[in-house]
Amino acid sequence: MYTGIGASAGIGIGSVVIVKEPSLVYDNKAITDAAAETARFQAALDKCVEKTQAMAEDMKTRVGEKEAEILEGHILLLMDPELGGQIESKIADDKKCAEAAVEETCDFFAAMFSSLDDEMFQQRATDVCDIKTRLLKILLDVEDVDLANVPAGTILVAEDLTPSMTAGINPANVVGILTEIGGKTSHSAILARALEIPAVLSIEGIVSKLTNGQSVILDGETGKVFEDPDAEIVKEYEAKRAAFLEAKAALSKFVGKPTETSDGVKVELCANIGKPEDALKVVECDGEGIGLFRTEFLFMDRPQVPTEDEQFEAYKKVAEVLSGKPVIIRTLDIGGDKEIPYLGLPKEENPFLGFRAVRLCLKREDLYRPQLRALLRASAYGDIKIMVPMISCVDEFRKVKEILGELMADLDEKGIAYNKDIKVGIMIETPAASLMADVFAKEVDFFSIGTNDLTGYTMAADRGNPDVAYLYSTYNPAVLRSIERVITAANAEGIMVGMCGEAAADPLLTPLLISFGLQEFSVSATSILKTRKGISSWSKAEADEVTAKAMSMATEEEVRTYLESIAR
Ligand code: PEP
Ligand code: MG
Repeated sequence: MYTGIGASAGIGIGSVVIVKEPSLVYDNKAITDAAAETARFQAALDKCVEKTQAMAEDMKTRVGEKEAEILEGHILLLMDPELGGQIESKIADDKKCAEAAVEETCDFFAAMFSSLDDEMFQQRATDVCDIKTRLLKILLDVEDVDLANVPAGTILVAEDLTPSMTAGINPANVVGILTEIGGKTSHSAILARALEIPAVLSIEGIVSKLTNGQSVILDGETGKVFEDPDAEIVKEYEAKRAAFLEAKAALSKFVGKPTETSDGVKVELCANIGKPEDALKVVECDGEGIGLFRTEFLFMDRPQVPTEDEQFEAYKKVAEVLSGKPVIIRTLDIGGDKEIPYLGLPKEENPFLGFRAVRLCLKREDLYRPQLRALLRASAYGDIKIMVPMISCVDEFRKVKEILGELMADLDEKGIAYNKDIKVGIMIETPAASLMADVFAKEVDFFSIGTNDLTGYTMAADRGNPDVAYLYSTYNPAVLRSIERVITAANAEGIMVGMCGEAAADPLLTPLLISFGLQEFSVSATSILKTRKGISSWSKAEADEVTAKAMSMATEEEVRTYLESIAR
């Protein structure tokens, strides 16, 4: 058995077809007619752009717009004056043949990109190599590998699957992909997922380990690959494949559907994100908006505070990707377990009860004002709402509103656009906020219940401490009462109430949350369809009945056991 990176989920059972790029050898001798050689390169370049355009068109219709963008990026690279200029000067000044000029220039750019410690640049290096191969093939008149006509049940095995190779794949015949390089976010992974072909990448030396026609099973989730599997493994993985396809079919029915109970009570189903790049995944997974953008990740893994402009770009990007759907952006929630070394914050005896989130931001306006200003500016580009974490008293919220008022006046004065009606809400994470929910509901635009912290603070139990883990459970009647109280208070005042803690994705709690009147569920992108399915399996009346019973119980265990017994 081999193990690689599971990059596209599903089980592939089939026979190996090894894909080897033909060798691209040429006679590397000095040229005499530079003008003719430049013309030869130009002709190859034009042909390459034309072919890539055709592949992008094909990709757009067969796979999708976003996947075609990868090839459109190649066209931009091909037309980059820096790249073309260097190739031409190698021909004109160094008397290199077109092939050598292309190879040396592309290798130079690829090496430069791969030396940068950033996944995007690593991908750029792969793109340049892909372009090099295509240009050389045209110059040398070598046929492309034809992946469109491989036999049914093929498992493609290649050193790397370039976007141009992947573009030719017929998913009806290819049941799996194995490569020696690439990771979860490489273009080959993105394309494999878009084509819904199970893929395991980064298996060292797999091309020389397997032979054509050999039977193989791969698991695109765990990254396991079995060569010549015995009958028992085949049986096990056939069952896994059937279960995977069944679950996928059941969930795919919910793509594009409203999120509603079986009797038509509609709720909103959003997603939680940590980085601007995650926004695309939310759209791909059919999220109806973003219910929590944890902005602290913009401040982590870097040596200094991101500037107002950097933050503005990040928030604007998310708003644009969501194109008009709601985007709730939470202001900085650091302190507690979320450390940012460069801020040099003092060590605390009791960090979870200490100087964190809004408490810290109100003392460090040098951090807070640029963030709020960036959020206001970005609000001109979509439906951004601002959410304040860890609120424990009304004064904190009033202070935030005061700062926002000052920033708005300044933007008005400078004629900078922002949404003057931007909604500002709070997270309900502390028992104090929950107890004051009726008062808060009159002052804030919306609530989002942060059950991760609310559970811990209500039960006075640290979420990470195994000795008190028995207390840290949202099924505790105390936590459930708190949640019910917050939702009731919001609905009484007519403001939006959502939940962005993990409990929103817990299928056992779905009937309770529906019955309490929760309006918005915010879950991880991968839980969106499961949650939509879960919500659709309850009617409001059934949910009310379950809730009445669960809320009459005295202990966490009773509630949990009961909810498990009626789970759908
Ligand atoms: C929560 O506390 O439920 C929450 C969503 O915030 P975080 O997990 O980021 O503390
Ligand atoms: Mg929290």
